[in-house]
Amino acid sequence: MKTLQDIDIKNKKVIIRCDFNVPLKNGRIVDDTRIKASLDTINYCLKNNCKIILLSHLGRVKEESDLTKNNMKPVARRLEKLLDRKVKFINQTRGKRLEKSVSEMNEKDIILIQNTRYEDLDGKKESSNDLELGKYWASLGDVFINDAFGTLHRAHASNVGIASNIQSCIGLLVEKELKALNELNSPEKPFIVILGGSKVKDKIGVIENLVTKANKILIGGGMAFTFLQADGFDIGNSIVDYDSIELCQTIMKKYPEKIILPIDIATSKEFNNESEKTDKDINELEYNDIGLDIGPKSVKIFKKYLKDAKMVLWNGPLGVYEFKNYRKATTSILKYLVKENIKTILGGGDIVAAASISKTKDKIYHASTGGGATLEYLEGKKLPGLEIIK
Ligand code: AMP
Repeated sequence: MKTLQDIDIKNKKVIIRCDFNVPLKNGRIVDDTRIKASLDTINYCLKNNCKIILLSHLGRVKEESDLTKNNMKPVARRLEKLLDRKVKFINQTRGKRLEKSVSEMNEKDIILIQNTRYEDLDGKKESSNDLELGKYWASLGDVFINDAFGTLHRAHASNVGIASNIQSCIGLLVEKELKALNELNSPEKPFIVILGGSKVKDKIGVIENLVTKANKILIGGGMAFTFLQADGFDIGNSIVDYDSIELCQTIMKKYPEKIILPIDIATSKEFNNESEKTDKDINELEYNDIGLDIGPKSVKIFKKYLKDAKMVLWNGPLGVYEFKNYRKATTSILKYLVKENIKTILGGGDIVAAASISKTKDKIYHASTGGGATLEYLEGKKLPGLEIIK
């Protein structure tokens, strides 16, 4: 895999594909973790006197009304603050103004172009990797650096498209992410996997790929109910993925000693934070109970398995962590892993957000910035954004 060390970027015009897909509320950035994660590569290019052109997607653009919601301008302003230097925002994804600005760049100048998915409005050019578009963006620079870990599993014009046309390498963030995930190829034992979240389908591939390496797979969150239902329990009104029940049965039959399910549940009659919360053993759930978190007995059991772990991979929260009353198990186990200094990799998205809320994120060994990309990599799938650079 070509990295920044393999390419001479000194004084060159570099195009960096970042992952600036940050959560926005009324045009304000709610969490700038992803912008901060891009700084190492940008600073490396500044040290090498590069002219820097940045691009990224932001949200989804399907209709005109999505344009204002997903405007990249606030990212330029935040980046300016974080870098303490000017970032010129070009409110275009192509055109004369962009080309003129690029041609007038001096060393260490930084340009950020508008959201690459603005190109999706007219025939999904970005997301379907329109060949002309990739070629056009590539024509703006000398070298392409892909530092958008979160989109490596997609073949878009702004990653695969550009990389098909000019000399390319991965950036420092992608390098760091891959290094951490590659440690899971031969993990130190005991190796424990924690899986939560709601979408069982997304995680079956990871289970199948890691089950032989892992000593135990601890299952919580919404996905636990599909396993519990498959195991014959009455799960009341909890979330369940009926399409995956057979697969869960197969996995539990094949690896009975490896899959660990919760034995008690924090339940409510309604899907909100306010209605009364009752902890129940798993065989006590009534038809109208909704399981929103794993219970304290299960947390104790999970900690027992984690106690001697040398390596932990965790994807998906153990409960509806967005509700304050149902993030108890997730927070308790995150804090336990930090306290016991257990080497832990958090696999993107919601579990990283939960770690931010519980103020444990900075003490965790590695918090991955990619959700889907992390899962696909762990499933052993080839990521198009990487393959083209290989
Ligand atoms: P995923 O994208 O599959 O990792 O799912 C993350 C989502 O799972 C978060 O938004 C959580 O609120 C949700 N989640 C976790 N536990 C439960 C549960 N018991 N019932 C419903 N949703 C849950």
